Formats: sequence, C-alpha cells, structure tokens
Amino acid sequence: MGLSRKLRASRQDAENYSRRLGRRRAAMELIQDGVVLVDARDQVVFANSAAASLMGVEEVTSVATLAVGYNSGETSRRIVRGAGTDSAPEGRSLELTVAPTPEGGRMFLLHDLSALAEVDERRRDFVSNASHEIQTPLAAIIGMLDLAVDSEDPEELKHLLERCQENALGLSAMTRDLLSLSRAEDPNWKPVPEEVNLQELCNRIASSLSDKANSKSLTLTASAGSHSIVVDRTSLETILSNLVDNAISYTNEGKVTLRAEIVDSKYAHFTVSDTGPGIPREIRPRIFERFFRGDPAHGRQSGGTGLGLAIVRNLVNRLGGKISLSTSKTTGTKFSVDLPLSPTQSL
Ligand code: ADP
Repeated sequence: MGLSRKLRASRQDAENYSRRLGRRRAAMELIQDGVVLVDARDQVVFANSAAASLMGVEEVTSVATLAVGYNSGETSRRIVRGAGTDSAPEGRSLELTVAPTPEGGRMFLLHDLSALAEVDERRRDFVSNASHEIQTPLAAIIGMLDLAVDSEDPEELKHLLERCQENALGLSAMTRDLLSLSRAEDPNWKPVPEEVNLQELCNRIASSLSDKANSKSLTLTASAGSHSIVVDRTSLETILSNLVDNAISYTNEGKVTLRAEIVDSKYAHFTVSDTGPGIPREIRPRIFERFFRGDPAHGRQSGGTGLGLAIVRNLVNRLGGKISLSTSKTTGTKFSVDLPLSPTQSL
C-alpha cells in the first residue's frame, strides 16, 4: 500500500473512531445516571453532565474523593452520602458503582437515591397520618366503652353508646376512603368504560344524598340533558357524590346544584355549586391534599376524612379530565369537572 493510501486509511480509521466516540458520548448524555470514565492513571477522560450535576460541580476534573476505598481491577458498589465535598452535594444520597474498563481504566456510575428517599418519606408520612386518623376515634371508643361498663345511669350509657357509634361510623368512612384512594392511585388500575346516561346518574346521586340535604333544609337539585357518555361509571359516581356531599356538608342555608352538559360535542362538563361560605383563600392550595381539612374539628364531627378531594382529583386525572374551582364568600363554591366523551380521548 502506498504512503498516501495508508495515510488516508488511518485518517478514515480515526474519523470512524471519533464518530463512534461521539455517538457513545451522545448516548451517555441521554442517561440520567452519572458516568465518569478514567484512564489507568485515574485521569478523567469522559464525564457526562449528569455526573457533574450529581457531584455538584461545574465540570468533573477528578475522581479523587469518589475513588477513596476502591481497589482498581474489581467491581464494587456502595452508598455515598453527600457531605458537601466533591463526591456529592450535602444531603444527597448516591449509589456508586465502580467497575474496571477493558482499556485498563475505570468507570464510575452514580445513581441518585434522593428521589427514592423522597418517595419513601412520603409513604412513611402517609402511613403515620393514616394511623393517627384511625387511632384517634379508636382511642375515643375504648375510653367511652370503659366508662360505659361502669355506668349505672341509663341516660349516660345511651349518650356514651351514641358517641361510640359516631366514632365507629367515622372509622368506617375512613377505611372506605382509604380504599378508594388506594384504588384511585393504583398504577395498574384500568377504568371499565360503559355507556352512562347523565340524567339517570345525576338523579341517582341526588336521591342518595337527599336525606342529608333535607336534614339541613337545603334544596338539592340535579339537572342534565338526556345525554350518554362512555366512562367508568363507578369513578364518575364517586367524583360527583364526593363533591355534592362536600357541598351539603359545608353549606348551612340555600341550595346545592349538580349539573351535567355536553359542550360542543367535545366533552362532558359537570358543575357542583353551593351557596355556602366559600373556601378561604389561604387554604385553597391545600384542599386537594390527603388528610387536609379546612377546619379539623368540624371535619371530624361531620364525618369528613380529609380524603374526599384527594380521591376526586386522582379519579378525574385517571379519566383524562380536568377539575377547577371558583369560590367566594358571597356566591359560594363551584367545582367544575370536564371529562372526555370517550376514554380514548384526553382533555
Ligand atoms: P373533608 O371534607 O373530609 O374535610 P375533603 O378532601 O373533601 O375533606 O375537603 C378538604 C377541605 O376542603 C374541607 O375540609 C373543606 O375545608 C374544604 N371544602 C371542600 N369542599 C368545600 C365546599 N363545597 N365549601 C367549602 N369548603 C369546602
């Protein structure tokens, strides 16, 4: 082979190599884990941007801190807790894997555990909130049964048993709502779409809550054209019942109205409005949180679990819909829910 052909061939090889390297680097940039490659003398030859951000540095120039305690030539793994050094920013937990590369160097793989830790913390919070919510009425029941056992006064006994009954009903509502919430949050849950006549559904919801409305002398009305949509019936019923139930609970006089209509043949629009006191501005951002009650004392007394709107929001999302709210002290509260007309659409 002539010299110029040799030169061309080796230039071609170099170009191919650098193209391959470029592709490998581009691929490494796409992954969320940090990757740092060092040569046999621990000089950094490549680091993706995830590595820099996980280590909390502008640019990865050294692996000195990461490499402490690792023997070259073997693969090992450990958890690194950030202490503000160049291995990880303070408070961050990383899983660090170190492995030899075929070229005689090493690869450092950094996996962020902070997101997992956050999920874990939220789960712990949830379990502790749920336990507290169950423990409170249970403690009340046990205390009142203790008194009831020793009571010789029939009036007092009746009163104690009624309080026990109230607390037991609260517990039952809590476990029912916890189950609904866990179903609404289950990633494997699939809606079961069926044709639902809106007028019939709204009438059923209104009649199931009419006793509660009557007991507060509230006018409860339901109106919907004779339309049908294809939707998971149980979810839609849970959404609307929760909103109407809340509207009745928080309204002391006037009316509660449930309406359903089809807008522009595109989506179903539901509104639940009341003539209650409105939702104070300062608590509005929190009302969809689990276990949040605007007035904890009133909520528990009226059987509120603080889970209703969390369930509603989850279900609306699962059905591909949207929920919004308008509320004021003078005009009351109106929740609006828009749902696609069929489960294959999303708004
Ligand atoms: P719960 O009703 O069991 O307390 P929810 O999740 O259903 O829990 O509601 C959270 C909070 O939102 C309530 O405690 C209440 O403060 C507020 N809220 C919900 N609906 C209304 C309404 N129609 N009018 C006024 N306040 C409401």
